[in-house]
Amino acid sequence: MTVTLEKSVRDFVSAPHQLFIDGDRVDSVLGRTFATPDPATGETLAWVAEAGTEDVDLAVRAARRAFTGPWSRMTPAQRGHVIWRIGDLILEHAERLAQLETLDNGKALAVARAADIPAAAALFHYMAGWATKIEGSTIPLSVPGAGFHAYTLREPVGVVGQIIPWNFPLLMAAWKVAPALATGNVVVLKPAEQTPLSALYLAELIAEAGAPDGVVNVIPGYGEIAGAALAAHEDVDKVAFTGSTEVGKMIVQAAAGNLKKLTLELGGKSPNVVFDDADLTVAIPAAASAIFFNHGQCCSAGSRLYVQESRFDEVVDGVADIARHIRVGPGMEPGTEMGPLISDEQLRRVTGYLESGRAEGAETRAGGRRCGDRGYFLEPTVLTGTRRDMKVVREEIFGPVLVASPFSELDEIAAEANDTPYGLAAGVWTRDLAKAQALAGKIRAGTVWINCYNVFDPALPFGGYKQSGWGREMGHAVLDAYTEVKSVCVQL
Ligand code: NAD
Repeated sequence: MTVTLEKSVRDFVSAPHQLFIDGDRVDSVLGRTFATPDPATGETLAWVAEAGTEDVDLAVRAARRAFTGPWSRMTPAQRGHVIWRIGDLILEHAERLAQLETLDNGKALAVARAADIPAAAALFHYMAGWATKIEGSTIPLSVPGAGFHAYTLREPVGVVGQIIPWNFPLLMAAWKVAPALATGNVVVLKPAEQTPLSALYLAELIAEAGAPDGVVNVIPGYGEIAGAALAAHEDVDKVAFTGSTEVGKMIVQAAAGNLKKLTLELGGKSPNVVFDDADLTVAIPAAASAIFFNHGQCCSAGSRLYVQESRFDEVVDGVADIARHIRVGPGMEPGTEMGPLISDEQLRRVTGYLESGRAEGAETRAGGRRCGDRGYFLEPTVLTGTRRDMKVVREEIFGPVLVASPFSELDEIAAEANDTPYGLAAGVWTRDLAKAQALAGKIRAGTVWINCYNVFDPALPFGGYKQSGWGREMGHAVLDAYTEVKSVCVQL
């Protein structure tokens, strides 16, 4: 039995999906469309207009007009009201958005309802307050002679290209759009080709909330075409990208043409460290959730589990037992805890890692196989007996695959935790907070969770060290990434 789709969701899905440029729904210039599949069945869910370079150009022009026109004439309070209203509208449309997200991405409806949609609304509500608080400072100068009055202004960067992934489609759009608007910027958003629907729905809500035409343009399309054109566009002032480290490096090169500003939220291979004095009644389910939440398709997934030797078997048995009992099924089915992976390509990628792990001698303690032959379902998997040099330990799998290893000492585990090109997140489990903070201080990662995992809040900055990215999202840290500082110096 599946949840009955709301009629408005059915109507939205079956309607033609155009680009959203300058407040209008438009076909792509070349009239191209692409299919977005339902990952639970592999069948086409909807056809969507595919943006090409010409459409990127139209969207950037519309954004530029809005930036120099109506958006900049609105007061910060008026902009704040629009942003707050977007958050309200997301909540008013929560059930439709949750169903849409589940259809397009595959995630369990209960997860979309409890996590993706409210978190997206919360981000807009949090950022709305910042619109009236973007302040400069007065600066005392030491230049001899005449007096000076010097101060700084924080100004929007301008036209921002935003390129996002498919794992939390609406939430990633919120992480990007909300701070851009709060700081007075305008946006051209390219959602992932696998999950364009909720971003198009959001575009309608943003218009309904009172954002002038052109302030947010949404252009679904392929990364190598629309994404690359946006990253390289000469009239785009900044690109904010979330996705793989591999594509992040391409964005850096594409952006070099006009040296546009860049923020990058990239991949991870995050260590989750359990000491022998941890409360295992909490740490075991949390270690399972750290990797299996959203099918492991989380940049912050705790995909490397390290357990102090004396408790290794107990923790691994516990996590493997949870893995075996996770209900895998279509996201729209009540009771489903884990839906399908996003695509056939992703399923093949992840099963390829499982084969490589087995070939290199890893032991499968739970899962390890595809479920059924329809849709892209995979069993939650736990591997042990791995070595540091194995691909399954070194590379981001971005699926429900955990590698677990024992360790003995704090310094040893600090070195092993850091033995990765990534530095996005980490977890530490112990009753000894001094030990936890000692390890947190040694780990080179943008977020360290102590006795918790995957705790996100609009006020808490998130981002990566090393090859996990540049800059921070959320919190007031993100405002720096969306503003330029102008120094004004007046001789009195
Ligand atoms: P991806 O890099 O393949 O695609 C991300 C986006 O980039 C998509 O919109 C895609 O169309 C676009 N793109 C692809 N090639 C491009 C190109 N040449 N030029 C411009 N744009 C291009 O990543 P994915 O598979 O969609 O997402 C998974 C990755 O995202 C994982 O590595 C994950 O860790 C990362 N991620 C990071 C965070 C974070 O906050 N650090 C959050 C979510 C996902």
